Amino acid sequence: MSTIEFSHRQTKIIEIVKRYQPITSENIAKKLNLTRATLRTDLALLTMLEILIAKPKVGYIYSGKSLFSFIGDSMKKIKVKDVKSSAVAVLEETSIYDAIVTLFLEDVGTIFIQSKEQFLLGVVSRKDFLKSAIGNQDIHRIPVGMIMTRMPNVAFVYPEDSIYDAALKIINHEIDSLPVVQELINEKGKAQYKIIGKISKTNITKKFVQFGSEKSDIKL
Ligand code: ADP
Repeated sequence: MSTIEFSHRQTKIIEIVKRYQPITSENIAKKLNLTRATLRTDLALLTMLEILIAKPKVGYIYSGKSLFSFIGDSMKKIKVKDVKSSAVAVLEETSIYDAIVTLFLEDVGTIFIQSKEQFLLGVVSRKDFLKSAIGNQDIHRIPVGMIMTRMPNVAFVYPEDSIYDAALKIINHEIDSLPVVQELINEKGKAQYKIIGKISKTNITKKFVQFGSEKSDIKL
């Protein structure tokens, strides 16, 4: 995936089309004091990106898409399965103490709670652990299952969802990460969710940094 940087000339072309549409390539060229041939690549690119629409015999019109919509479009095209990292999960019987040790050892902020069959039961975050610590609970004895946010209140995503959908869920639920799950229906017809990874603010931020640092492979 590459990012696209628009040249000054392309920005000017868009401005001209917005103002004078429909306008032929010849007239765009005149306004820029350039030849039509010089503009051919720019116009082809802007048309391919659906910023401009080429109407035969009429000229170019502006589609209404902004340059910034590409960031959103790109985020909608990247799937959770291509960005996810591995999830750290423990059984609900695990003591709060052992879960905290796991949190440090695995260097994560959120721990998922799963059944022996690896189905999602809940989630525990740093704040949950702090709450139990200041609440004077016996963290060596109390199982992590007692303090988790449990299903069906756990927000999750599927591997085929976009990272845009994942980011929306993270924002709407005010959380740091989401388990990535695969849905399985048991013999009683009940949906169960196997944990196959996680997607966090860090994964999404990394993707943004990648966008920012990649060089465009489209030469302008
Ligand atoms: P932190 O505790 O580090 O601020 P979060 O903001 O992710 O981490 O967690 C805040 C609360 O939301 C906690 O009570 C946690 O159990 C809950 N939580 C965390 N992740 C999820 C999730 N995917 N779905 C529902 N609740 C969650």
